[in-house]
Order: sequence, then structure tokens, then C-alpha cells
Amino acid sequence: MTAPVLPGWEHVYSGKVRDLYRPAAPHPDGDVVLVVASDRISAYDHVLPTPIPGKGEVLTRLSLWWFEQLADIVPSHVVSLDVPDAVVGRAMVCRRLEMFPVECVARGYLTGSGLVEYREGQAVCGVPLPPGLGEASRLPEPIFTPASKAEIGDHDENITFEAVAERLGRERAAGLRDLTLRIYARAAEVAARSGIIVADTKLEFGLGPGGDVVLGDEVLTPDSSRFWPADGYAPGRVQPSFDKQFVRDWLTSPESGWDRVSPPPALPDDVVQRTRERYLEAADRLVG
Ligand code: ATP
Ligand code: MG
Repeated sequence: MTAPVLPGWEHVYSGKVRDLYRPAAPHPDGDVVLVVASDRISAYDHVLPTPIPGKGEVLTRLSLWWFEQLADIVPSHVVSLDVPDAVVGRAMVCRRLEMFPVECVARGYLTGSGLVEYREGQAVCGVPLPPGLGEASRLPEPIFTPASKAEIGDHDENITFEAVAERLGRERAAGLRDLTLRIYARAAEVAARSGIIVADTKLEFGLGPGGDVVLGDEVLTPDSSRFWPADGYAPGRVQPSFDKQFVRDWLTSPESGWDRVSPPPALPDDVVQRTRERYLEAADRLVG
């Protein structure tokens, strides 16, 4: 599943899910990149060999909608949807940003790597928390739990606010933390109207040409966030979620026979279909 050849654009980079292009000739909108969301799916830091049809479109539709919901808080990198025919619906022309080398994560609930850390030291990324919390507990208030951006194949690592301040300066770090928490608060409020809990979310910011902080990448998709159905929310157990749960469950089942080290196996059809439906359901519930 290589990046498509697109007229007028030169491929420059492929992450696990997105392909980035730069204009082959000066672009009327200036310093831009084309961000194309593929149907690739990753789990446990591996890109799987089987795509989820329509996933790139869902991610793009959701991101565009969220950028609008957040527009009064932070500018987004989106410039236009004037993209090559082959990628219509799953590509955006964006301002090219100098991305900060930090994933800005906000958590309102405890699960995943947050819960693991909490159990080790009653804190997440240096933020102390009260005793007695467990799987899917709602936190007293949302917290900023940044992670370092890993190279492809590596695991993103939780870091403290102090570590972000060391890298980017204290003022910048505080700015990103405040922005992340404001965006999370808005997202939680908006998603609640659709009966969805945003347990946590990962944001990526960059500097625009004028030195302004801009929200980049994708936002508040099932890939970057944990969405839980609000009805049936019950702390103390793992929540069902609108994401890769089927994929993760299957990959870790004996049926897949996967050791988490060698290249992952192809997904069976029913796992692909059910995952596709989960992504679509999340988008339909939110965007309507
Ligand atoms: P990594 O982020 O480490 O490359 P990834 O697998 O998460 O891994 P993808 O999300 O698939 O990568 O690729 C998107 C890449 O494009 C990310 O590196 C992201 O930081 C970068 N990116 C997103 N928006 C912009 C932008 N406006 N300008 C420059 N880079 C961007
Ligand atoms: Mg990414």
C-alpha cells in the first residue's frame, strides 16, 4: 500500500496512516502540504497489511468537522479541499507547519498507558492523582499527559510537563498545555451531546509561517482518541470503544497466532467489516 502518485504533487513522507506531499510547482496558496489519509490501520505500533475501506475518508470527514468546532479556540492547518481527483474526500491542502516534537495528549479518564503509570506511582506524566482510581475512572479534572513523538515502529513515550518545558521552553510548553486542555474541554462537551465520552485525545501542533501556533494533523478521530459510548459507561472495567478494539482483540487472540514482533497477519474479513462499521458509526454519531 504505497502512497499514490498524484499530479501536481511530490510525495515527501508517509507515516503509519497519512501520506504527505509537497507541491511540484509553486502553489497559489503558498507554503502548503497535501495531507492524504490512507485506509491503512495500525495497531501495537505496526501498520497492518489489510486496509479498512473508507477509513481515510472517515478520518478526514471527522477532522474537518472538528477543526470547525474548534475554530474559535485555535486556527487549523486546513487551507482548501482543492485536491487531486484520486484522493477527493480523504485529502486536505494544509499550511506546512514546523511540527512540535511532542504529542499533546489530554485525558479525562484513566485507561491504557495512563492507567499503567498510575498503578506504578499514582501519577501520570508527573501529574499526581488521588488514590483509589482504576480502569476507566473519571479523573477529578482533565490532565495534560504529553508524549514524545517516536520514529516509525517505535512506541511513543509518556513524558512530563517538565520534559516538554526543557525541550520547548516553559512558556511554549504552558501554552500548548492550556490549548490542549481547552480543546479537550470543548471536544468533551460537543461529543457528550452525541452520547460519546472522549476519554482521551492526542493533538499535534506546529508553528505557522508567522510564528503562530496552529492545530495540525488529524483531530479527534477514533485513531487519535478513545471514544466511549456514554450509555453503559461503567468504571472498573474496560469500556467498549469506537475504535480498533476488534482489531486489537483479534490480533491478541490465539486465532491470529501473532507474536507482536513479526509482521502482523492479514485481518479476516469480518474483523475488517466490523472495524469499518465502528469508524462509520463514530462519524455518523458525531457529525450526523
Ligand atoms: P509520525 O507522526 O511519527 O510520522 P505517524 O505514523 O503518526 O507517525 P501519520 O500520522 O501517518 O504519522 O503522518 C502524518 C505526519 O504528518 C505526522 O508526522 C504529522 O506530524 C505530520 N503533519 C501533519 N500535519 C502537518 C502539517 N500541516 N505540516 C507538516 N507536517 C504535518
Ligand atoms: Mg500521526
